[in-house]
Amino acid sequence: METYKMFIGGKWVESSENQVLKVLNPSTGLPVASVQSASRDDVRKAINAARNSFASGIWSRATPGDRSNVLLKVAELIEKNQDKFIKVETENSGKSIKQISGYDIPYTIDNIRFLAGACRTLEGKAMNEYVADGTSAIRREPIGAIGIITPWNYPLMMVVWRAFPALAMGNSVVVKPASYTPLTTLMLADIMKEAGVPDGVFNVITGPGSSVGEEMAKSEKLDMIAFTGSTEVGKRLSVLAASNLKKVSLELGGKAPFIVFKDANIDAAVESAIVGGLVNNGQDCANSTRYYIQEEVFDKFVSLLKNRIQKLRIGDPMDPATDMGPLISETQRERVEGYIEKGIQEGGKLLSGGERPEIPGHEKGYYINPALIYTENEDSAIVKEEIFGPVFTILKFKDYNDAISRSNDVTYGLGSSVWTSDITTAMRATRDLRFGTVWVNEHVVVPSEMPWAGYKESGHGASLSPYSLEEFTYIKHVYFDLTGKVRKDWYDQIFKG
Ligand code: NAP
Repeated sequence: METYKMFIGGKWVESSENQVLKVLNPSTGLPVASVQSASRDDVRKAINAARNSFASGIWSRATPGDRSNVLLKVAELIEKNQDKFIKVETENSGKSIKQISGYDIPYTIDNIRFLAGACRTLEGKAMNEYVADGTSAIRREPIGAIGIITPWNYPLMMVVWRAFPALAMGNSVVVKPASYTPLTTLMLADIMKEAGVPDGVFNVITGPGSSVGEEMAKSEKLDMIAFTGSTEVGKRLSVLAASNLKKVSLELGGKAPFIVFKDANIDAAVESAIVGGLVNNGQDCANSTRYYIQEEVFDKFVSLLKNRIQKLRIGDPMDPATDMGPLISETQRERVEGYIEKGIQEGGKLLSGGERPEIPGHEKGYYINPALIYTENEDSAIVKEEIFGPVFTILKFKDYNDAISRSNDVTYGLGSSVWTSDITTAMRATRDLRFGTVWVNEHVVVPSEMPWAGYKESGHGASLSPYSLEEFTYIKHVYFDLTGKVRKDWYDQIFKG
């Protein structure tokens, strides 16, 4: 079993307190590796490495073209080593090898290529005179040393979504991956070095969020924190980050509605509901979780969905035929089971699933069958809270206003979708839904070119697209006097004579 070190200032180092943490395979419950648990001192060293590399200008003053070339090389090296990335990510996350090889890794490589190219294209206002005989210009500059804290659901992808726009714009970063899934982030560090990212620009430290993450959030030497994770931790980080008023960018939880009108293509909606609800074993912030179905097509939709779920293959993530693997941990499985129980107690009817399947050879894995619950209780926890597991909460609606107002009535605002063949209904819904993304007759598609951003308690800031590059910059106004006068005319308005 491999023991991974941390990557600080271009060197592989052990925890200064000799603490290590086990990393498990969620499909067996057995350890696959161990990683270092960073001490406070290690966190400070990583932050100093980022600060020093930023101040040196070796990366922050490199041209966008030079940075782009290095990041494109990273993409090429991940592609070259993708078999290893796929194997490690599958073993460590429990997601099916089908999803990781067909989607996670190729899409992540595409994300890097987009960001590497796009950083060369950012434009601003033209230099201009907004005051007579004075020219104004805008400079866009990197922010400095940035802490990046990522979740376990897309281990490598979430690091890329946050660290790569930061790096593309010339910042230096300290990344703390989730303790469940740190391995591919550590593998990435080797590739960054090989691609030519200068020492100290990309650092990786590992250890518990409650100590390592909090130390980063509190640090007065970090200029920004970019966090992807739960809303609860996002709120806590915002408070800690106030220590030096560092910039905070938050990508948080979701509770996506999936609204099916009676004129929709129901077969297409059911196929998409499977992907929308169960991609990533139901642990995706974009997952469709609240299915608002118009009463006229309710029975048809539910019966087709039930049949379709029964055909899914739940099993060993390493088997290419597997559709769904286990959840990330026993804690997560118990959380999901708790929500199913609560949903029933609060008036919901379990239509199918929710039990622990028996997978030979994987008896200690954290498996659960997808659950379908019908409820009329709009205030139930399964309607309002993020479950982060394979639970379909099914609700019935009467008309447009009923569907939209109930869909909007949550604290989250990340993804949402609407299913209809009527263009006016579709256009109205894209305006009226208070979510960062509205899909029409689709769910979960996020091209690298488009922003992924939240409304309300789903956070602020954007991943992907040119907006994510802007997120990691300061804007500076530069003013040039063109008069050459000792006293400009406008001084008289303030100090006469
Ligand atoms: P989490 O518990 O909030 O953890 C996220 C990261 O924060 C981990 O690295 C964790 O470290 C660290 N952390 C935990 N407590 C901390 C603290 N007090 N101070 C600083 N850092 C702390 O979230 P998760 O369970 O990993 O991920 C699931 C959540 O992420 C869901 O809510 C999901 O919706 C959200 N998510 C959002 C997006 C998006 O784009 N909006 C994308 C993916 C996931 P440890 O692992 O060591 O605890």
